[in-house]
Amino acid sequence: MRFNHFVHKTKNDLYYCNTVTSFALPINSSKKQFEKYFFLKGQEFEAISYRLIQHNKTPYGLNKAVYKKKHAAISFVNTLQCNLRCLNCFISHQLTDAKPEETNLNQYTRFLTNYVDEYKCETISIDFIGGETLLRKDICDKVFDATSLFCKEKSIGFTSSIISNLTVNLNENIHKKFFSKFQTIRVSLDGDAESNNTQRVYRNSKAKNPFLQTLKNLKKLNDWGLSDRIYIQSAAALAFIKDENRVKNFYLMLGAVGVRLPRISLGIYSPNQDHGPTEEYIKYWKEQRRPQYRTCCTYRYMEHFVIHGNKIHANYHNLSNSEVGDLSDSIEIIEKKYKNYIFNNMPVLQDHNCLKCSVIGLCWGDCSSSIPFVKDSPSSYCDPQIFKDKLEEQNDLVKFMNSQIVHENS
Ligand code: SF4
Ligand code: SF4
Repeated sequence: MRFNHFVHKTKNDLYYCNTVTSFALPINSSKKQFEKYFFLKGQEFEAISYRLIQHNKTPYGLNKAVYKKKHAAISFVNTLQCNLRCLNCFISHQLTDAKPEETNLNQYTRFLTNYVDEYKCETISIDFIGGETLLRKDICDKVFDATSLFCKEKSIGFTSSIISNLTVNLNENIHKKFFSKFQTIRVSLDGDAESNNTQRVYRNSKAKNPFLQTLKNLKKLNDWGLSDRIYIQSAAALAFIKDENRVKNFYLMLGAVGVRLPRISLGIYSPNQDHGPTEEYIKYWKEQRRPQYRTCCTYRYMEHFVIHGNKIHANYHNLSNSEVGDLSDSIEIIEKKYKNYIFNNMPVLQDHNCLKCSVIGLCWGDCSSSIPFVKDSPSSYCDPQIFKDKLEEQNDLVKFMNSQIVHENS
């Protein structure tokens, strides 16, 4: 019996595991069983399709224990206008001065109804993203209220978040009530003043210190009693991250305005469409890689979608090629386009080395934000041995992969 590229024998030799589908079968299973669960040579594409399409639809996701409730995640782009021009902006090529198209709320609600009914959703989360979201808070307000009302009427769970660079002047009369709506307020701040202000620069203002402006606004949010909702996202300069004293001072400064340590996420400056990866970045990227049990949200079939105006997209980082429908389209049409998008655009599926790689089911080529540099050939940057070593570190691969162990009578 010849197994496909994605199959591993566990260390204790009791099971074969398929890293793509996450099924595990006892080693003495019959050929029929191995075939049924996509273990055999020639079943590579079936295994990938199962994982990316069927398996993501019902039951929800890979890890049933963690994701018990069927959930829809919406990223809502309320504007592509922005007051900054950050060097590490993933969507610099999409920023514009044009007024955003306003979403037709009736169509939006109808789409939610169809979606929730089709997929039997029990929860919805909405994440407002920009550009700079505060430049069109009126749109956030309307869409938030429509989503919240929809969930209330349908008796389904609702969570919300907003991301902002927090560099516009906050006014208590306007912004306190606004920010109080969201359970999570995600603030982009790329390290200390030196690191942040090198990367994040005002577009039309002579002001030189966006760091201070953000810090002042964080203090206001703290004074308004909202500090427990704040999360800081940093894509900081590598020199900053490697300097313990600077990082410590950064934490202290944030602590003084009410941001607690566990809510600060330090990442590094990433390449984008304008600035390719440095050797140092690629090295860091490799070192940081971890097995991914779930694919990047862009490639999670119909579980995550991006709404911009009246269009539905699969990928926020490239709105121009990722449209999968319109709010007035049927779920059937959107499904079809979404599947096509995944198979035609997911970088690992375009890369012949990845398709033969035994750890593709733990790698998936990383997040779609890496596309500007990995393009259609993630394998030219990766090191599969990193994942293999991580597998070897585990005594029990079956447990490690949270596999669905199949025991059937032949
Ligand atoms: S604030 Fe965000 S959207 Fe605006 S330029 Fe910076 S990274 Fe891009
Ligand atoms: S990027 Fe590398 S590790 Fe990941 S699937 Fe491709 S070849 Fe394998």
